[in-house]
Amino acid sequence: QWKEVIRNYQWILQEKELSLDYSIPNAILQGDASMLYAVWDNVLTNAIKYTPPHGRIDITVEKTEDSVGVTVKDDGIGMTPAELERIFERFYRADSARGRNVEGTGLGLSIVQQIIELHKGTIDVTSIQKEGTTVKMTFPTVLPTST
Ligand code: ATP
Ligand code: MG
Repeated sequence: QWKEVIRNYQWILQEKELSLDYSIPNAILQGDASMLYAVWDNVLTNAIKYTPPHGRIDITVEKTEDSVGVTVKDDGIGMTPAELERIFERFYRADSARGRNVEGTGLGLSIVQQIIELHKGTIDVTSIQKEGTTVKMTFPTVLPTST
C-alpha cells in the first residue's frame, strides 16, 4: 500500500526535486485498508507540501512481533512548539504553512488521528521550525478483540 501511495506522488517528488528514501518491508496490519491508505496519503502529502524543493523525505517501516511502526521524516519548514500543539485540531493550519500558497483544509491530521485511534495505534509528531518534522506512528499487528 505504501508503495502505491509513493507511486502516486512520484511526479511531484520529481518536480520539486525532493529525494525520497524508504525502507518498507511487507508488513501486514489488521484494519481498514482504505482508512489506513488515507493515513499514509495525508502524512506523505504533508511532508511533500511542507518541504521546500531539494529537500528529503524518509519513510521507515519497522516490524516487531506484535506491532508495526511507521515513521515519516522530512527536512522541511517544520513548526514552532505552539503550532505543533494544535495540528490535530480540525481546520487548524499553522501560519508557516498558510503563508506559502500550499493548499489544505487543515482536516488531514485530525482525520489521521481518528483513524489511528480506531486502529488502537499511536501517533507522535516532533518538529523543529526550519529544520523539519518527524511523524511516528505505531499500530498493533492484530487488533485486540473487544469484550
Ligand atoms: P489537508 O490535510 O486537509 O489538506 P493540511 O495539510 O493543511 O490540510 P493537516 O494535514 O491537518 O492539514 O495538517 C495541519 C497543519 O499542520 C498543516 O496546515 C501544517 O501547518 C502543519 N503540518 C503538518 N504536517 C507538517 C509537516 N510535515 N511539516 C510542517 N508542518 C506540517
Ligand atoms: Mg494534510
